Amino acid sequence: MAGFDAARALAQYDPGKLTIATVCSHSSLQIFHGARREGFRTLGICKGKPPRYYDAFPLGKPDAFFPVHEYADLLDHAEELRARNVVIIPHGSFVEYMGTDNYEKLQVPTYGNRHVLPWESDRVRSRQWLVGAGIRMPEVIEDPKDINRPCIVKYMGAKGGRGFFIARNYEEFKKRIDSTAKYHIQEFVLGTRYYIHYFHSPLTGDGYTLPGGGSLQMLGVDRRDESIIDEAHRLGSIYELEEMGIQPSFVVTGNFPLVMRESLLGEALDMGARVVAKAEELFGGLWGPFCLETVITDKLQFKVFEISARIVAGTNPYITGSPYSDLIAPELSTGRRIAQELALATKLGALGRVCT
Ligand code: ATP
Repeated sequence: MAGFDAARALAQYDPGKLTIATVCSHSSLQIFHGARREGFRTLGICKGKPPRYYDAFPLGKPDAFFPVHEYADLLDHAEELRARNVVIIPHGSFVEYMGTDNYEKLQVPTYGNRHVLPWESDRVRSRQWLVGAGIRMPEVIEDPKDINRPCIVKYMGAKGGRGFFIARNYEEFKKRIDSTAKYHIQEFVLGTRYYIHYFHSPLTGDGYTLPGGGSLQMLGVDRRDESIIDEAHRLGSIYELEEMGIQPSFVVTGNFPLVMRESLLGEALDMGARVVAKAEELFGGLWGPFCLETVITDKLQFKVFEISARIVAGTNPYITGSPYSDLIAPELSTGRRIAQELALATKLGALGRVCT
């Protein structure tokens, strides 16, 4: 983002012609659908030819495509995108495909706070942020020799759980570790996984208001479907699988809709509020959609193993609303909520407040 002043760029925009753009993947159907419902023009950034699958889903198809040879080429097209009044909506695949360095450098107004990236992508810093916000997290095992119960070993930068493995002791760790890669060991938290979708607006003052200003919504909850761990039991225990030479993996293939017991909602919202407050203190704030990835234990305690600071694909089951967003407004997806926020920011002359 070096030297890029989004507010200044937005001052040159025609506010009546804002175009919502994102990379054609991840949650783009939902983003385009929501933007269209709020009256925005939409632009789908794609590598090479526009993907044909949009023809099958016309209400989620962007008005136009913006093909690039490589995603990093977007850097050279910033002026053109600005001339088209483009606001970028980042999602996980957008950041991954462009690369974090390029994403940070992109000179196009982007919804959300790009300063969150170094805090989110570094496991040490994200722990500092979340623990600092009073969030309970899985224990970290610094020395693999101390593994004395089921632990999950994660490779740094590995997206979507690829290569992760479970080890019960040092022997199992040694057998499986790729020592050329940077890794991180956590206790494997036993419980049920809930991925909570929040939306923080600094521009609204009703609903679940926050002490630092604005309000927080909880738009939905999902659980990821992960291959092969989530169905591996069909062949036997993971240790029986190992005898067959099969390693469980944690690769996301889809998402299930979910609700949590109502008595947990108070804490879920409180956790979101504390994460927002700490973000304000550490790097200027967290607004728009974000997700806490949690395990709830049988003691009904949340343990948060990760934060995603933008729209997650787990919101996709809720294009026409979730059991939570239905209690806020009809047919409210996260994609549509983003568009509503941009419409409100435009009306208030506050686009520069919510874009970086
Ligand atoms: P992404 O960036 O897509 O969120 P990632 O590569 O950062 O993924 P994680 O989300 O940290 O990986 O973990 C991938 C999966 O591994 C989780 O969805 C969850 O099923 C499992 N997992 C991660 N940490 C733990 C833990 N401490 N205890 C139990 N399961 C875990």
